Amino acid sequence: MNEILNLAINEMANTEFDCSCGRHHNFSIHDIAIGKGAIKELPRVAEPFKEGKILIVYDDNTYKAAGREAKQLLDDAGFNVKELLFDRGGELLIPDESVVGRILEEQELDVSLMVAVGSGSLNDSVKYVSSRTKVPYIIVCTAPSMDGYVADGAPLICNGYKYSYPACLAYGVVGDTDIMKEAPMELIHAGFGDVVGKITALADWDLSVKVNDEYRCETCVELVQRALDKCFGQAEALKERNDEATLYLIEALTLTGVAMGLVNISRPASGAEHMLSHYWEMDYIARGLTPIHHGTQVGVATPVIAMFFEEMADLLPEGTGALCPPHKEIEALLRKAGCPVTPKDIGIDRDLFHRSLIEGYKVRPRYSVMEFAKAHGRLEEIADKITNTIYGE
Ligand SMILES: [Zn+2]
Ligand SMILES: [Zn+2]
Repeated sequence: MNEILNLAINEMANTEFDCSCGRHHNFSIHDIAIGKGAIKELPRVAEPFKEGKILIVYDDNTYKAAGREAKQLLDDAGFNVKELLFDRGGELLIPDESVVGRILEEQELDVSLMVAVGSGSLNDSVKYVSSRTKVPYIIVCTAPSMDGYVADGAPLICNGYKYSYPACLAYGVVGDTDIMKEAPMELIHAGFGDVVGKITALADWDLSVKVNDEYRCETCVELVQRALDKCFGQAEALKERNDEATLYLIEALTLTGVAMGLVNISRPASGAEHMLSHYWEMDYIARGLTPIHHGTQVGVATPVIAMFFEEMADLLPEGTGALCPPHKEIEALLRKAGCPVTPKDIGIDRDLFHRSLIEGYKVRPRYSVMEFAKAHGRLEEIADKITNTIYGE
């Protein structure tokens, strides 16, 4: 029972076990290779698909970071490789209809595997195509920037709006820490912010278990909690692109994905802090602006949600408040890693911020401390107070 807690991350692929939560869990990613020099594992991970053609997809940034090497490794191992390069002249790739369409066009009938080299956008685009065409894919991660490597949803832009489409898990995940530690620092900060968000995600989950009798799996909570402790313990070293700190960061991002995969809900990874982030992002997209990195938004939203827990402390069910540290501690953690700390730091204006506190709980049908505050008639008062604290009276 709960065997997964004794496994190293690279052993977690294809696990199945009876859990103390009463359910039988299985995790269907077939291969995980994370660590120093892990990109060398790519031919081994791809081996079962050697009969067919491999479609490898990258953009000009990720080609330089890892794509060139990935393609070379596959060529040298005798694979039949076809490449698709999105050349955006260094600009950010937006995962929209045109990107998904191009991948589909290049996917000839004899393609047996796709290899995506990148982080957010490329992973999501290839994941989406993989789920619709049933051609499996391997993700070669280039940045520890978000937790979507091991998640089954694909957020894409359609008609200028962002939708999160149901998709599928990757066949394999290859994460080379030597490559990821060289990612742009803002992407490393974004990944750290996404991990920080798990603090309030777990507290929100606990709240909903106690208020709504929602399902909870202690094994998953422990899996995530242990990964957070390791990652936060090395926060300061991230600034120096330290090997171990990068490894713990990508492990934490991956393990929350594993936890989500086990329980088939995103509770271990996302709570009210993600709802604020989505609210801001939708506002930016609606105004035609490029949204701030997902994890960066999540990071600065986390102390805000911690303030909600503080304000509601007298009404919280027993034990829930203890799961959320004081907001000042979370701010200090972000500062330690060199991340932005408040929504103001990343340019969210006062009006948008205040609106997001009032309306953010509606973004998803998911019970959180914001809805808890609403139910107790305290939402407006708390929103005003937090806004004044961050933006001044
Ligand atoms: Zn996230
Ligand atoms: Zn369980």
